[in-house]
Amino acid sequence: MPRLPTDPDLLVIGAGAAGIAAARTAMEAGLGVVVLEARGRVGGRALTDTARLGLPYDLGATWLHQAATNPLVPLAEGLGVTLHDSDALRRERSQIGARVLTPAEDAAYSAAWAEAEARIEAAARDGGPDRSLAEGMAATGPWAPAIEGWQGDIISAAPAGRVSLQDFHANALEGGNRLPEGGFGALVARLAEGLPVMLDAPVTRLAWGGREAVAEGPFGTIRARAVIVTIPTSLLAAGAIRFDPPLPAETLQAAHDLPLGQVVKAGFRVVGEERFGLPPFSSVDRLVAPGEPLVAMSLFPFARPVISCHVGGDAAQALEAEGDAAVEAFMRAEIATRFGAEALGCLAPGPIVSEWGRDRWSRGVYSYARIGCAGARTILARPLAGGRLCLAGEATDTGMAGTVGGAWRSGVVAARSAMAALAG
Ligand SMILES: Cc1cc2nc3c(=O)[nH]c(=O)nc-3n(C[C@H](O)[C@H](O)[C@H](O)COP(=O)(O)OP(=O)(O)OC[C@H]3O[C@@H](n4cnc5c(N)ncnc54)[C@H](O)[C@@H]3O)c2cc1C
Repeated sequence: MPRLPTDPDLLVIGAGAAGIAAARTAMEAGLGVVVLEARGRVGGRALTDTARLGLPYDLGATWLHQAATNPLVPLAEGLGVTLHDSDALRRERSQIGARVLTPAEDAAYSAAWAEAEARIEAAARDGGPDRSLAEGMAATGPWAPAIEGWQGDIISAAPAGRVSLQDFHANALEGGNRLPEGGFGALVARLAEGLPVMLDAPVTRLAWGGREAVAEGPFGTIRARAVIVTIPTSLLAAGAIRFDPPLPAETLQAAHDLPLGQVVKAGFRVVGEERFGLPPFSSVDRLVAPGEPLVAMSLFPFARPVISCHVGGDAAQALEAEGDAAVEAFMRAEIATRFGAEALGCLAPGPIVSEWGRDRWSRGVYSYARIGCAGARTILARPLAGGRLCLAGEATDTGMAGTVGGAWRSGVVAARSAMAALAG
């Protein structure tokens, strides 16, 4: 670990993407920085595991979204990390049970998607009051549960009936997706190399009313002239750090209005050569009944022998609470539905299963806005104490909220506010 400055200008709380970006930005400007991280590792909700399946598997963030403007794209390229064009490589297939759609069914599914997206666009622009994503897309017909499942549970990590349409629209991601070879978590960790991070250092109290900010935790007490807090909204809302004085009521309300959704992922290693007739980078979905959870399934990325399954929203929360065995059983049943019971014979025992809802340093995956709360991100991002206390993190970005790119941007913005405050 690099030596920590004894008299830092800036404290950064949390070494996820936002905290790493904030620390790098301030250090590039010559400030003394200390980053306090609760976990024994950096990266937060970006985490690549290489041990469990014997190859890189992202338990959290996987794609660099909105590649055209994503700040991580040039940084990855600068490190020599190969980014693959996921949109060009992805092979999509939809099914009814184990049967692949006929061309006519496929056309009907595509048309239903196009209609739902056009209605979201029109509803977001009609100038009326905010409403739920489900109301805005008003999907009907046999494919409505699948489309709602994608837009709500999978993309927003929460049921479409609880998600703000305005916020969903403001953060709809366009401009391409990239997959970093070696994993996104590994990339984020590399971007933290050399930073003055104190690991296993959870902040429990933060005094910010005086001339200095004082952070307290099991590590003792650390002071600085400014502080950037990047912990997830779930933890802010739960009072995981005791702020003294308390955060302004509108800031705290904004954290409550941007809860973290839930996703559970399971990665299975395939033994043998069976690929179900699918090429690398396949994405398979299927018709689901109303109320039936949709499973997003990516198969054989980079031609690796892996099937990655994930569910979101309430089903994810319930499954994760039941435990890894329940997650595994559910995903295996889904694989059998799509590829036949004999497919289960190709799966190595012991998949890797995520646990973001149980994780005490995240308590969920990424933020969505409650209906009527699309303005909460701007409120949460407002600098406090003239810029000497700034909140950052994916929930504070507008345009790329919920993503690593958004978190990174927010860290840069917060660092600039803090630097302006210190210079003033
Ligand atoms: C399953 C899943 C899939 C995802 N898919 C994608 C994707 O494909 N593409 C994408 O761009 N994004 C994706 N995301 C979202 C992305 O991972 C997050 O938006 C981003 O990593 C958040 O970064 P952050 O810095 O805001 O927060 P975090 O990464 O949560 O960082 C906050 C840090 O604060 C630390 N902390 C918490 N409390 C304390 C405390 N009291 N004291 C000190 N430290 C503390 C935490 O340990 C953590 O390291 C996904 C996330 C998940 C979980």
